Amino acid sequence: MSDDYSYLFDLLSIPDDGSFILSDVCVEGPKKSVTLSRRAAPAFCPQCFSRMHSKGIYTRTLLHPVFQDGSFFPILLKQRRWKCPRCGFQTNERFPFVERYKQSTNLTPLLVLDALKELQVSTRSVARKFHMSDTQIRNIFSSYVDLKRLPLTEFISIDEVYLNIDDSHKYAFVIMDFASGQIIDIVSNRWTSTLEKYFLSIPREERLLVKGIISDAYKPYLESVPAFFPNACSILDSFHVISFLIRKLNDHLNRMIRTRREKLKKNG
Ligand SMILES: [Zn+2]
Repeated sequence: MSDDYSYLFDLLSIPDDGSFILSDVCVEGPKKSVTLSRRAAPAFCPQCFSRMHSKGIYTRTLLHPVFQDGSFFPILLKQRRWKCPRCGFQTNERFPFVERYKQSTNLTPLLVLDALKELQVSTRSVARKFHMSDTQIRNIFSSYVDLKRLPLTEFISIDEVYLNIDDSHKYAFVIMDFASGQIIDIVSNRWTSTLEKYFLSIPREERLLVKGIISDAYKPYLESVPAFFPNACSILDSFHVISFLIRKLNDHLNRMIRTRREKLKKNG
């Protein structure tokens, strides 16, 4: 059997030397599963070196979404529990690819990150594919991915993006190069405390190079952010300037129409 399913040994990074036993392998159809156990071998207590006794075999179910179609592929792990008769030490048989107390195997984060490379996919759809929660997917992303910041440019645009992941990730703060439109960095939220820590972590010499900060009329963007850039002036985004003028013109027109109507009523 191990010949037919040798790729499963590769996939789980376990040696195909007889020390691990794969049984009840079912990789066809919607209901896939495999049972994995270790060949019985004597175990010794790490504390007093006595030979330990088996307290029986327990079955644990692990998720391992390795198939391309994302179908649910549980691994039934038959794990021996050992007990030292002399000092009472107890432990479970070790499987190299399973971290203790974790429901997924070590391979899962890699597969999740690979799926997230597709820019159009949402964390929700990846979560569904891997039978995990949105939060688990985001935690994997933030613990493995460290995107480096680009150098600051002379004119930077700042704005926020509505994320609504949780209370501390409602609006992400985005810094862009005004000339190229390239994203320089994304900060997890736009709180004053977060931004202060963030901007102060950028060397002062680099901040001195910034000449203008383009933003909307959000007060902290116009007032507190420029404080970190001694040579920069705040610039209200032309889009917001134009919408401000249009709003004023509309107000004026509406006022004129209203007075005209009232006059007509009085005279009529
Ligand atoms: Zn012992």
